[in-house]
Amino acid sequence: MLYGGIELGGTKIICGYGDDECLLIDKTSIPTTRPEETLSKVKAYFLKNRVSSLGVASFGPIDLNQRSETYGYIITTPKPFWENTDVLSCFRDLDIPLGFDTDVNGACLGEVKYGAGRGLSNVIYGTIGTGIGFGVYLNDQLLHGLSHPETGHMLIQKHETDKEFHGPCPYHDNCLETLASGPSIEKRYGRKAQDLYENEKVWELESYYLAQAMVNCIAMYSPQKIILGGGVMHYQKLLELTRMKTKEYLNGYIKKEEILNHIDDYIVLPELQDDAGIIGAIELGKINM
Ligand SMILES: [Zn+2]
Repeated sequence: MLYGGIELGGTKIICGYGDDECLLIDKTSIPTTRPEETLSKVKAYFLKNRVSSLGVASFGPIDLNQRSETYGYIITTPKPFWENTDVLSCFRDLDIPLGFDTDVNGACLGEVKYGAGRGLSNVIYGTIGTGIGFGVYLNDQLLHGLSHPETGHMLIQKHETDKEFHGPCPYHDNCLETLASGPSIEKRYGRKAQDLYENEKVWELESYYLAQAMVNCIAMYSPQKIILGGGVMHYQKLLELTRMKTKEYLNGYIKKEEILNHIDDYIVLPELQDDAGIIGAIELGKINM
């Protein structure tokens, strides 16, 4: 039996499938252009590779309320052409169980089942890249609510040296995404994050922002582990700096061994690496079988 998944991202879409023996047998990447064109290519992939379930992990905001008329839609995205796109309907005539959730909830589920969060009931997965988002898995299930968590838009404190900076989020001047995403680094310094590895100031500031987000997540969700992925995290030293500052800003308030003495095992990189998203998407379909 094959299980399919779609990781719907703002720049590319990954389609793939696995079976009971192998999590990921095949995957392919399709550029995200206009919805009709992109989704018909995705559909063609699954007409060729027949699967028994299909999970869709999508960029958002998306409608996850199954009683809503727009369930399965991407709703108010600033991404051109994709606002109010009915994603899930394209796949209904495959007549198989479908799963639908945010890209980060999908990746979070992948890491909980097969990666760095294995065996845990409370895990946060964050992606720090073109956007910033966090999937939240609490009490053995993915967290939904009024909508879904939008942790990337939590408001944080701007650094003194960064007061004049205005980042790319059109809604907030001091949310995490507008201060710490890949595009905000590029806007601030005029160069991409990967061209700034030598510049320590960049990573001091980046970790100042990420550590505030870690403190907020720990204070609100009390996760047993936080997993941080995404392109910006590819700079190795950033994780160390973020761990160090998280401990510093918590200031000893949460007296747990995991934080006080084992923070290296508490804030970690994804074990599924760049496949967390597609493996998680496949899992989203399987949980509805
Ligand atoms: Zn924002």
